[in-house]
Amino acid sequence: DAAHAASQALRSGSCFAYHEHAEKLVLDQQLSLMGELDEGIRRGELEVLYQPKLDLRSDRITSAEALIRWNHPTRGYLRPDIFIPLAEEADRIDDLTLFVLRRAIEDLDTWCSAGHVMKVAVNVSAVLISSPAFAVRLEHILREEGVPRERVTLEITESAAIIDFEAARSALEAIRALGVSISMDDYGTGQSTLTYLKGLPLSELKIDRSFVQYAHRDQGDALLVSSTVELAHQMGLEVVAEGIEDADCLAFLRSIGCDFAQGYHIAKPMSAEDLLELVRISPPLSSRKAA
Ligand code: C2E
Ligand code: MG
Ligand code: MG
Ligand code: MG
Repeated sequence: DAAHAASQALRSGSCFAYHEHAEKLVLDQQLSLMGELDEGIRRGELEVLYQPKLDLRSDRITSAEALIRWNHPTRGYLRPDIFIPLAEEADRIDDLTLFVLRRAIEDLDTWCSAGHVMKVAVNVSAVLISSPAFAVRLEHILREEGVPRERVTLEITESAAIIDFEAARSALEAIRALGVSISMDDYGTGQSTLTYLKGLPLSELKIDRSFVQYAHRDQGDALLVSSTVELAHQMGLEVVAEGIEDADCLAFLRSIGCDFAQGYHIAKPMSAEDLLELVRISPPLSSRKAA
């Protein structure tokens, strides 16, 4: 039946395309790639996939994270690790991010119109989110698309450290004032995460995969993850654990009261259409287990 099929699909990830990491590009390829960005966007080569976040209280998929890929005609399927840092360096990260943001908000609108209470998260580089111009352009998109703002989260990814902390803080306050939530991505790996935790207007922490992955069998990792969940809760933040690759890890996260879980064990990144189908036919994970 449909529920069984959904469960199988969730576990194997088989019905969703999965691609290997592309090889690292050499320098001249890196430079010319950025020159092809506009054309790539125009030709529809940039694709936004969504990885579900499982709400551990309701056992339902209630949100999804937008993850970009570039299906390049000659260089193959490019993962964001390859071209996001290039876009940051070439000063093209704003156009790229606004493209993803607009697409994600359109897809969110489709899911919501189909009757599902969903949220969407978009990754935004710390350098971009800290600029006052970004909040202005974000508000423009939100106004044009007209989706409920509390359903949009921005995940701050930190490939470069925030240099001007005060500027970052006030830019984030402006974003929060728009009604959008802010999540600290890859928490624990950054340069000054406790400083961020103390000073920035966050509503969510995403604990990095490197701490989560073995937390069910490594005492040190378990302690770091459980105390981070506790700390976050005391500060009024919700916690997402990323990179859950097996059932034991998921069980551990449940046992320590983590709010959301994300990872290949739950689902791989998939198209907006596949996500809608998954949300439509998926019963809660616990009832699927019993079936
Ligand atoms: P991230 O935001 O931390 O996203 C999580 C990454 O881990 C994704 O890789 C996802 O596919 C992968 N992942 C999810 N579950 C598992 C798991 O169980 N095991 C393992 N091994 N990996 C898992 P992806 O899609 O290649 O994205 C890499 C990074 O690129 C993202 O890390 C994010 O920092 C950045 N990124 C992706 N899309 C965008 C974007 O639109 N804008 C910006 N600025 N950055 C982006
Ligand atoms: Mg992220
Ligand atoms: Mg992350
Ligand atoms: Mg990560």
